[in-house]
Amino acid sequence: MIVTVTMNPSVDISYPLGKLVINDVNRVENVSKTAGGKGLNVSRVAKQLGSNVLATGIIGGTLGEFIQEQLDTQKIRHDFYQTTKESRNCIAILHEGNQTEVLEDGPILSDQEETDFLLHFSSMLMDDQISVISISGSLPRGLSQDCYVKMIELANEKNILVILDTSGEPFRRVLETTNIRPTVIKPNISELSALEDKALDGDWNELKAVLEGQRYRDIEWIIVSMGSEGAFAKHHDKYYHVEVPGITAISPVGSGDATVAGIATALEARSTDEDLLKMAMTTGVLNTLEERTGYINCENYDFYYEKIKITQI
Ligand code: ATP
Repeated sequence: MIVTVTMNPSVDISYPLGKLVINDVNRVENVSKTAGGKGLNVSRVAKQLGSNVLATGIIGGTLGEFIQEQLDTQKIRHDFYQTTKESRNCIAILHEGNQTEVLEDGPILSDQEETDFLLHFSSMLMDDQISVISISGSLPRGLSQDCYVKMIELANEKNILVILDTSGEPFRRVLETTNIRPTVIKPNISELSALEDKALDGDWNELKAVLEGQRYRDIEWIIVSMGSEGAFAKHHDKYYHVEVPGITAISPVGSGDATVAGIATALEARSTDEDLLKMAMTTGVLNTLEERTGYINCENYDFYYEKIKITQI
């Protein structure tokens, strides 16, 4: 079973407008409201790939109820820690070929809520069907920057594989706590650049030198995703360059999450390096070809899978 973690889920609202009129009323007909957050995107794609998925994180209020109802409709099992504080809305206004976003920060949580969530998470891990945990996205305000460190420590104690897709200080804390290790990290090139405080452009030798650094020691898989340029990957001491086919992207939002879903599914199936990378890239490409975030058309899976080119370097 794959457990996905979304610590700050949202109701994603899309307002398609012909034209956004500033300082006046804008009326919208075709509103769509969906369960959002990076971990929930991973859940949907992993479920589409046939994985047994359980979604967790912290959720609350009427928006929290809406998110859980959506997951029920999509037949995605969930076991969130419930807070009394309201989960957030994230609004995307689609107008004149632009996407203007209004993102709520979400609830401010307390130390007690962090402790209670960690107890909830720890008791979930008693289920020995769980083989992979996929942690995505940022932490809600109020939680300690070490929250992912604590979660990975619990997973490491149970020998459960962990995929971490986050950025900024929570990511740095995990990498610098060398007695705990995620199994896979999937930074995109700009997240890696921010971490390294250096503008990386995808040059193989430079990436190799970076990934040899002390903070990445003993992380089994490092997959640096690079959008239409595919990925650069390290598995133990092997390095790979992965090319994806040229496509006309419809919406790349959530492609990194679809990639994580591919990684989680392949990791659970104990796939070969080549299969894992091909699956991860195929799911990323397929998400890019859809308007919906965190959704793939499985009918095109084999077609794109065959077009992914892996070179060991
Ligand atoms: P997000 O934060 O939106 O989820 P990300 O920045 O984490 O995305 P990307 O590196 O943009 O992730 O994309 C992940 C994968 O999706 C890429 O490695 C590639 O396989 C696929 N992909 C993304 N954009 C494109 C594109 N324009 N053309 C082809 N493949 C793409």
